[in-house]
Amino acid sequence: MWIPKSLRKYALGLLIVSAPYPLYNTVIFSEVQRAAPKIQTIEEAYGVLNEEKSKIGIEDKVALVINDEDKLKKINIGGFCGRNDEGYVIGADMSNLSRFLIRHELYHIFRDGCPKFRPTIERFVEDYTREVSIRNLASNLKFYYFQEQRANIYALTGLKL
Ligand SMILES: [Zn+2]
Repeated sequence: MWIPKSLRKYALGLLIVSAPYPLYNTVIFSEVQRAAPKIQTIEEAYGVLNEEKSKIGIEDKVALVINDEDKLKKINIGGFCGRNDEGYVIGADMSNLSRFLIRHELYHIFRDGCPKFRPTIERFVEDYTREVSIRNLASNLKFYYFQEQRANIYALTGLKL
């Protein structure tokens, strides 16, 4: 099941109605991500990435850091964005890679900057596990209330909030 375009306009309404419950939204969108049609090959992924980069207007280099071993699923993460020496990075498990995920992470790059140095999956997993224990309430709220919601709305509808 994938969400028909005609239903996507309700995403904004859903966001407003459920605004006091960002975790609830996050659950819904993780279902959306699960239902999104998956990309089958790296070539296809770079094709989608280039298409979506020009749609959102990102000219910097963006590398895909993909693994076949579900290393992100094991720590409950869909995907991540960050930087390497040449530009930006989008990381994901191959089993979870979709246009929705690429659009979501591109929006983080576009809007939130993704300043952390995360050149590989291993480096991300290591840092993330450490960061979770020290993340404070304010940055958690900002992440769940604003950054995640905006990225999901863009990924689904193309709306830049
Ligand atoms: Zn996100």
